[in-house]
Amino acid sequence: MNTGLPGGEPGDAAAHAGSRLGIMGGTFDPPHLGHLILAEQARTALGLERVLFVPAGQPWRKAGRHVSAVAHRVAMVQAALAGDPYFAVSLVESERSGPSYTYETLAALHAQYGPGAALHFILGQDALADLPHWVQPGQIIAQARLAVAVRPGWTPPPPETLERAVPGLSAAIDIVPMPQIDISSTDIRRRVAAGASIRFFVPEPVRACIAAYRLYEGTGDRG
Ligand code: ATP
Ligand code: MG
Repeated sequence: MNTGLPGGEPGDAAAHAGSRLGIMGGTFDPPHLGHLILAEQARTALGLERVLFVPAGQPWRKAGRHVSAVAHRVAMVQAALAGDPYFAVSLVESERSGPSYTYETLAALHAQYGPGAALHFILGQDALADLPHWVQPGQIIAQARLAVAVRPGWTPPPPETLERAVPGLSAAIDIVPMPQIDISSTDIRRRVAAGASIRFFVPEPVRACIAAYRLYEGTGDRG
């Protein structure tokens, strides 16, 4: 896999000893400015060397809802990040068959980057509230710290609620200061379906992909 990152091939653990890596998981259907601002704020707040965007192959928490083809979602993330010195795409989930479980992704990244790499899994408050329902949440916080940012419309669960659900969860969190960005992929899909403008909600190359692949057209209520 070519991540386009400096500092040796991703599999070269020695080149990454001591790396501080951000992991930005998501469905990215499509990627938007909220994702990019979140990743950048996490990078700078936590002193991360790079952030890997990991498009989910099979976003099992979104089962029952239409999700665009993984090839289109990967292409959109690549378009969003092209030329960025700090951000790169990881295909670790999109090339794996079966549901995309974060604890497995983190294990694969630890194997790839070596035991010295510190992983910071980046997520919004909505995803944090959902995390106790993910598979093996204890294995997630055993392998990564969580970089959590506000998400409009979501209030953080009280620490004791998180703690009851997953022991150790509240202590695994680093807060990422970030202005509230009320943009979601759901809203963008609805806008495209309604023929409304999404200029500046997504990087221009992503908008070009959406138009070229004719994504989200006529999908009306698609969640
Ligand atoms: P959808 O509406 O389809 O669920 P989304 O906008 O929530 O899409 P995802 O791919 O589901 O995007 O999110 C990936 C990660 O990015 C999640 O951790 C989510 O909380 C975070 N995130 C997405 N948009 C924002 C935003 N505007 N502010 C903060 N975090 C965000
Ligand atoms: Mg979401």
